Amino acid sequence: MLNVKDLHVSYKGIKALRGVSLHVEEGEMVALIGSNGAGKSTLLNALSNAVRRKAGEIVFGGRETRGLNPHAVARQGLLHVPEGRQILADMSVYENLLVGQIALGRRTTRYTLDHVYELFPVLEERRDQIAGTLSGGQQQMLAIGRALMGGPELLLLDEPSLGLSPLITDQVFDALTRLNEEGLTVLLVEQNALRALEATSRAYVLDRGLITHEGPSAELAGDQTIIESYLGA
Ligand code: ATP
Repeated sequence: MLNVKDLHVSYKGIKALRGVSLHVEEGEMVALIGSNGAGKSTLLNALSNAVRRKAGEIVFGGRETRGLNPHAVARQGLLHVPEGRQILADMSVYENLLVGQIALGRRTTRYTLDHVYELFPVLEERRDQIAGTLSGGQQQMLAIGRALMGGPELLLLDEPSLGLSPLITDQVFDALTRLNEEGLTVLLVEQNALRALEATSRAYVLDRGLITHEGPSAELAGDQTIIESYLGA
């Protein structure tokens, strides 16, 4: 579904990605882990064309995305839930979900409002609440719900557990697991490496702009160098 080859991104001379190659197959849930500043957010931003690549190929659904604006990439079904969530703070929960659908010009997608409410019941309970007044966890759920309303084929998630309590993190990860079991393809960036490796079947480790390890998540979680570097052991 997604094939990335030799991707380079620089910010005014800082080489954030130095030749990243990876792939995500349909139906997979893949983790991307790595320490602060490794380039994880940059990689997701490059995949959604929110930052410009210096070189490299990104082929999504058989099509090279070079030159498409982020909106057009999203319309192709590659939806990005960025770090910090970026919900529409002055609008209600319901309006945020509606905008997620309408903004991409989708009349129907495989995800309906009912589906999102079933996945995150708190969003239905608070459908009329102004989104900016939701808790951090509820805002994360809303950001995921909004992306679902846009009809993703591939969902990119940047640090969904950031700032959330363990209990709410569990709820968010349970929802992601369920979405994946229902067929959604997911690429998950997480600071919480252990959690990400538990939730996924395959993973990549990014270090200073380069992929240093890749393989089945269970294998990486048992690799001593990875445990020492990223799992806080
Ligand atoms: P974190 O987990 O801390 O968000 P990350 O792995 O997501 O880290 P990035 O945010 O992608 O890493 O940053 C990779 C490198 O690029 C860092 O050195 C960072 O300082 C730099 N960088 C990121 N965004 C910009 C920007 N807009 N302008 C300049 N440098 C940037």
